[in-house]
Amino acid sequence: MFSKKIGIDLGTTNILVFLPKKGVVINEPSVITVSIDDNRILAVGKKAKEMLGKTPDGIIAVRPMKDGVIADYRVTEAMLRYFINEAGGKIRFFQPEVLISAPAGITSTERRAIIDASSQAGAKNTYIVKEPILASIGAGIPINTPSGNVIIDIGGGTTEVAIISLGGIVSSSSVRIGGNKLDKAIIDYIKKKHSLAVGDRVAESVKISIGGALPREDEEKMEVKGRDLISGLPKTIQISSNEVTEAIHEQLLGIVHAVKSVLQDTPPELVADVINRGMVLSGGGALLRDLDKLIADAIEVPCYIADNPLLCVAKGTGVMLDNLELYKKSVIGKRN
Ligand code: ADP
Ligand code: MG
Repeated sequence: MFSKKIGIDLGTTNILVFLPKKGVVINEPSVITVSIDDNRILAVGKKAKEMLGKTPDGIIAVRPMKDGVIADYRVTEAMLRYFINEAGGKIRFFQPEVLISAPAGITSTERRAIIDASSQAGAKNTYIVKEPILASIGAGIPINTPSGNVIIDIGGGTTEVAIISLGGIVSSSSVRIGGNKLDKAIIDYIKKKHSLAVGDRVAESVKISIGGALPREDEEKMEVKGRDLISGLPKTIQISSNEVTEAIHEQLLGIVHAVKSVLQDTPPELVADVINRGMVLSGGGALLRDLDKLIADAIEVPCYIADNPLLCVAKGTGVMLDNLELYKKSVIGKRN
């Protein structure tokens, strides 16, 4: 028997598809290219990402989940259809049950848009579950117990902070600060300090290779290629890890602020749990060097990085699909 259940992590940067018993079967950038003339979908995922910033006239590359909400309904539907079909492989799913992650702050209109897109894409039932809940389950946190657990999920477009108890979100905050804003801060820094124009992908690779949340004594350096803003010609400069730390510091303070605001909103009974159990970091941003230390120091509560932070939400969809009855109160939207 092949599975008829599909879990989808509809991230701002990456879309992951999870099949129970198989695991993550698709992990692709959430990018799609469309031809403007006839609105045709040209490429989805990795192929589309390679075209970002390089598309000729008449073709646009878009991230439909920009900032954690559906920026374009039609492309989201096309993208969901593509991923549901891909996950089916040669054997077409007979109208699968689909569980999709959504940002905690999702509005009812956005929720309906995702459910409609999923139905249109061929789903029999669609369940919508808030991302922090799925991230927590994927990180191995027992969410149905009456104790407070803090999850900090740092994606590309947003950071979602939530305190979870008894399968529900007690308080949460979503800020539009994530990996993309860090990349943007690195671009601005290099422009200002080195008079060099660099692209998003270069900035991201600088962040991943040498970036960190705290200054280090054992500094690392990296060569960066771009366009000299004065001569207009190609140029290579050296950037140090501490320069990157300086570049992204302000954005990271925004994340710390979001964590603080959630803790300030939390009932005192649960605060004691938080101090005892600590906070868990998930999402790609959790991999930024020393970010756990920066947050733990600022809040004075221990902070742990989940195993495989990029996979937490997808794994959470799998656990939930296998135990829908147990987690039914965490499902916020369902369509038969
Ligand atoms: P989303 O859920 O929004 O799709 P992800 O959880 O997939 O986002 O995380 C993507 C973000 O994580 C990107 O901004 C990417 O640059 C960042 N990222 C991935 N790996 C690392 C790393 N090793 N260090 C810092 N940031 C990282
Ligand atoms: Mg995510």
